[in-house]
Amino acid sequence: MRTTESNPDISEGTTRVFFAIWPDDAARKQLAGLAEQLRGEALCVGRKTKAENIHLTLVFVGEVGASKLETLCLAADRIKDSGTSAFDFAVEEIRYWKRNRILYAATGGIPPKLIDLVSALENALSTAGFTLEQRAYKPHITLMRDASCQTLPELAEPIAWQVREWMLVKSEQTSSGPVYTPIRRWPLA
Ligand code: ATP
Ligand code: MG
Repeated sequence: MRTTESNPDISEGTTRVFFAIWPDDAARKQLAGLAEQLRGEALCVGRKTKAENIHLTLVFVGEVGASKLETLCLAADRIKDSGTSAFDFAVEEIRYWKRNRILYAATGGIPPKLIDLVSALENALSTAGFTLEQRAYKPHITLMRDASCQTLPELAEPIAWQVREWMLVKSEQTSSGPVYTPIRRWPLA
């Protein structure tokens, strides 16, 4: 168990944060509809992600103290000069991780600009002293948790949107599930 002694940040109050992108309205409706359809056709049972919560995580940061939150934003500000720009994200496949029972939407090939953005963010954050996960980045959009799935259908056509901004998001656990609140947004030209 983590205690205030072992983690001084906790005593000043921490916020659980991550960097992410959100689909536009049309893509969000389609992605939410997909999970509903899978459940309706009894192909999957599980806890559906609420439509407003559907997102793609770029970098998970974790618990951050108030003073570090500003450092985090300043570090993220610096990546605007690293050549990142708007790009299309297309969901092409529905997949299932048996190991953690997650049903998710994924892209066939990872857009190079997404890799650029994630790498720039990771570099900026580690330069600023943040310790990040060493696990390889696997872009995925969680559609259902505690999912049990049979065969997964192929998508008739991709669900795509243009990524024009990324954001730092606060994650809170409530009795009715996670609530995500954008703290700050960065546009992609
Ligand atoms: P819950 O934990 O209640 O199931 P959640 O996983 O969506 O909800 P968080 O745990 O705050 O909420 O995670 C926010 C986002 O960061 C999610 O997209 C989650 O998949 C991702 N994430 C969480 N922990 C990690 C981690 N250790 N490494 C990479 N991504 C993570
Ligand atoms: Mg989690």
